[in-house]
Amino acid sequence: MDHQNRAGSKFGGGGVASQSSTNADRRERLRKLALENIDLEKDPYIFKNHVGMFECRLCLTVHQNDGSYLAHTQGRKHQTNLARRAARELKEGKDKEGALPGMAQIQVRRNLVKIGRPGYKITKIRDPLTRQNGLLFQLQFPEITPGIKPRVRFMSAFEQKVDDPDKSYQYLLVAAEPYETCAFKLQAREVDRREGKFFEWFDEDSKEFWVQVLFKTEREERYSGVPGLAPSMGKR
Ligand SMILES: [Zn+2]
Repeated sequence: MDHQNRAGSKFGGGGVASQSSTNADRRERLRKLALENIDLEKDPYIFKNHVGMFECRLCLTVHQNDGSYLAHTQGRKHQTNLARRAARELKEGKDKEGALPGMAQIQVRRNLVKIGRPGYKITKIRDPLTRQNGLLFQLQFPEITPGIKPRVRFMSAFEQKVDDPDKSYQYLLVAAEPYETCAFKLQAREVDRREGKFFEWFDEDSKEFWVQVLFKTEREERYSGVPGLAPSMGKR
């Protein structure tokens, strides 16, 4: 692995003082992998300050180097802030363009099979950093039973009984009493289960439930066996 010339390597040096711990090695390997795949110049929130540190303008956090900034963008705090901001902007009626900061909004699709009752919206998304494609689901549960939070589960084509089994599809199920459980039919690509990639969030105020699904890129699937990267969900 020689990536001396890749953008950003010059910022690296300071932070990661390896005490030959495998954790540090692993982190550094992941960082290199991430930097190969991610274009920080397309990130609207990164800001390099006057002392050469990286700030997240969304979360108002400061990071030693590009790698720790990247790690931050994959974390729960950053992802929650992205979702909150998107929700706020939707509410303010900016849902034509730029409704999903940090996510390129490609088009709204309604051609996925719906089984069930709650109102919903599906947006095709792409992570501008990793270029992973995915879907953002927003379901409205205004009458949800107090104290209940919607629950999510994936189901293979062979577990479900509604359609004829077709192994090129899988299903995303959302349950929230007293609503009927509903299912969305998805292509059977491997879902990235890493924190921040797959996430669910229930807005208690608006009773809107958000689920983000990003599919692994082919490249990532190839790295699936590397320790520390997402475990394979492989069911076949
Ligand atoms: Zn952030």
